[in-house]
Order: sequence, then structure tokens, then C-alpha cells
Amino acid sequence: MRIAYTSTRCKKEITSAEAIIKGIADDGGLYIPIEFPTIDIPFSELLSYDYKKLSVYILKKYFTDFTDEEIKDCVYKAYDNKFTNDSIAPVAKIDENFFLELYHGPTLAFKDMALSILPHLLKTSCRKLKIKDEIVILTATSGDTGKAALEGFADVEGTKVIVFFPENGVSPIQKRQMITQEGKNTYVVGIDGNFDDAQKAVKEIFNDKEFNKLLEDKGCMLSSANSINIGRLVPQIVYYIYSYLCMLKNREIKEGESINIAVPTGNFGNILAAYYAKKMGLPINKLICASNENNVLCDFFNEGRYNKNRDFKVTISPSMDILVSSNLERLLYHISNENEKKVDRLMRELSDKGQYIIDKDMKNELDSFYSSFASDEETYKAIRDIFEDTSYLVDTHTAVAYKAYMDYKQATGDNTKTIVVSTASPFKFPRDVCKALKIDSDELDDFDLVYKLSAFAGVKIPNAISNIENKDIIHTNVCKKEEIKKEIKNFLKV
Ligand SMILES: *Cc1c(COP(=O)(O)O)cnc(C)c1O
Repeated sequence: MRIAYTSTRCKKEITSAEAIIKGIADDGGLYIPIEFPTIDIPFSELLSYDYKKLSVYILKKYFTDFTDEEIKDCVYKAYDNKFTNDSIAPVAKIDENFFLELYHGPTLAFKDMALSILPHLLKTSCRKLKIKDEIVILTATSGDTGKAALEGFADVEGTKVIVFFPENGVSPIQKRQMITQEGKNTYVVGIDGNFDDAQKAVKEIFNDKEFNKLLEDKGCMLSSANSINIGRLVPQIVYYIYSYLCMLKNREIKEGESINIAVPTGNFGNILAAYYAKKMGLPINKLICASNENNVLCDFFNEGRYNKNRDFKVTISPSMDILVSSNLERLLYHISNENEKKVDRLMRELSDKGQYIIDKDMKNELDSFYSSFASDEETYKAIRDIFEDTSYLVDTHTAVAYKAYMDYKQATGDNTKTIVVSTASPFKFPRDVCKALKIDSDELDDFDLVYKLSAFAGVKIPNAISNIENKDIIHTNVCKKEEIKKEIKNFLKV
């Protein structure tokens, strides 16, 4: 079966390679597969597949214009020993709960799962379409995405990666992760301003026609590695199928038995991949969408109204601090019976009035979702409860998902086995995890806290953290937000 891609706002088919290169459609919509491929190998046979082999199988179903060799090449380059756990995405059984640990990659957060393969998918797509330009990834980051993009693209031939971060707006560990980044094709610059300043300045560069023309003349093409790229979404489907197979292998479930999945959600990318897995035939009962105090999605699932007109809250699960979850547009398309006109109208309402309401038919299609949220206090409590009961350490984002799952259990009494998706290592957020466990953290820096936390919980410090403490600082540039273009020109020598 050949799978083409079309925008959520206007039906016009393109290949997956084209969709990966474009990232976002000209009409502002997101690319979606025109239909869902099915899992057509019996689970009993898939049980013997390792993560890479399963990835090749799933990716081939979506990227049908790629050859087997091309897919294999991308997968094996991405999921190598950058990941410190052989199974890439292990499921930990903790008492009666299951945690899918997606943080064993180079930057200790789940974005590694997609950003380690996206560079290879992009490069292969360019080769297929005979695009000779060098791809220049340009990103503004509030922490996690920038480092994951740097690790993913570092030393990937034919690409360069430039990251701007707010000089005083990321955690000390996140900053250190970025400024020690190796790779001849990487460039990291602190911005004298906040994340919004960095984001705005980068957006202006993307929209600067003259500047893009100049780059084009020099053989460069800007790209964003943004989480709405279909090349980031599809690889995320794999770990849901993989975790189901792990449960099956360990006889936690019988073949065909349904499971629930609880996901700490921000831009709606991770949980959407679980929805795609369900559409492909994976037996999933409920998708539990967990928000923090920026609970726009939670209100959406409960009321059928999306309303971003509210205060933005800075929480202890910062990677979920977001008021417009871009990937939700894809879900709207699927639950509206693929009605691109309806999606276009809703998205216009969102940009004009900051809100929209879905009709009854669409709302009825949401019954496989449940949603709840956690305040910061509830998040601290979840970390403490889990640790006191089981000695298992979770980060703040995972704790939000756990809390939402507890709400679900209480509300429904459903005892279906549930996988809580664990999106970051607790050592990435040592200050808040220490606070949750009532470990005295005053006057200690984040690296001290990592040691203290490790000793307290008896968990080994991940190499990705111990390594950076003594690594040389490579990137020392700091610029004003008006100087971003100059910095890019310097690095690209244009
Ligand atoms: C990005 C991120 C999330 C949110 O994932 P989405 O796909 O944006 O919903 C959750 N947890 C962590 C640690 C993240 O980095």
C-alpha cells in the first residue's frame, strides 16, 4: 500500500520525502498520512523483533517512497550506542505499574527518540529529491529541544545546526549540555533576552525572504526540526508497539488484551503517536492525556472547547508549559471525518479569537481519550508517593502523567494494565525532584544536587550528566536579539 501525505487544511497529495522536507504545508496545515497502515504481522511473530527491526517495519509502512535500504540505514544510524539501554525503550515494572522509559538517549529526554532519526530522514529525503543544498537547522530553545537537535544533527554530513537559547532562561544543566556540544557543524549562541525573544527572532529569520534567497544562492536551505514534522511523529509510534510487545513477552498481558497509555502532554506529539498506534490496530483502551497547570488540553477533552485565552503558567514540568498544542490539529482532522474545511475554520477561529468549540459528532469521536491535570503541589506529591512506596525515581513530567492516571483509576475503577510514559530522567530536574523528596537543596548547585539525589535514591548518575560536568566549554558566544542574523552569517560564512 502506497501512503501519500496531505495537509490538514487542503487536500493535495505529496510523498513522505516531500512532507519531511517541507515540515509544514504552505496553507499552514500539518501533513497527515491519507490512511493508516495496519500491523499485518502477528504479534507472536513480532515478539522476536528488537527495537531497530520493529522501527524498520513500522517506518516502511509510512514512508512508502523510501527503499528498504534507505529506511534501514536511517534506523541503524539513529538507534545505536548513543542509547545507553540496549532495548532503547525499556518498560520498567514497578509494583503494579508500568513505566515506559524514553530517556535513555543522549540528552535524557524522549525527544531523542525522534531527533536522533530525523536528520537521517531529512538527508535521505533530500537525496531522493535531488536537493543538493546543505540543510541548516535553526532552532530557538527553552532547553530540551535545542540539545536534542544538536545531538541528533552533530556531525551528520550535509547538515549544520544552529541553536539560540535564552542566556539566563534555561537550567544550569541544560545550559552546560548545550555549550559543551561537540561537532564541527554545531553552533550554539546565548541570547541576551528570554525565550520569547529568541523564538521571535528566529521566526523572523524564517520569514525573511531576502535572507533565505541569499542562503539559497550559497547552497543552504533553512529547516526547523520542529515537532510538527511528520518525520518526528512517525518514529514515535514505534515505542508504543514495542512496549506492548514487551508486556506480552513478560506475560503481563495476553495477546489481544487492551492496555491504557498515560502521556505527559505538551505539544500533543507524543500522545498523538499513541493514537496512531491504536489506529494501526494496537489494542489500546484509553489514552490518558496529562496536563500540568497549563490545562488547555484537559479542558478541551472534557468540554469540547479549546481556549488559549488564559495566563501562561511557569511550572516544574517546563517541557509541557504550552498554550497552543500544534499537533492537536492532526487529531481534529481525524475526528472530523477528514474534513479539511472544518479544520481550516477551527484553526482560523483559534488564531482570530484564541478559541474554538467542536461539534457533537467530533466530540463523540474523543471517547478513547481521558484527560486530567496536576498542579505543581500534586506533582511533588506524586514523585514522593512513588518513591516512598517503591523506591522508584521519576521526573516531574512523568509524575504529572502518573497523577492523571491515578485520577482516571479513581474516576472509573478501570483495572486495565496501564503504561505511564516516562519522558525525562529525574537527573535532568534535580532541584524539583529533591524538593519533592524533601532533600535539603539550599545553596547547592544543580550538579551537587545530582550527586545528592543519586546517593539518596541509590540510582546511578547517567553518563550524559557526569560527562558534561568536566567537558570543555566550546560555545561562548552571547548576542543581542538584534544580532541573530549576523551570528548566522558568521557561522555559515555567507
Ligand atoms: C517535549 C516534552 C514533553 C511533551 O511532549 P509533546 O509531544 O510535546 O506532548 C513531555 N515531557 C518532556 C520531558 C518533554 O521534553
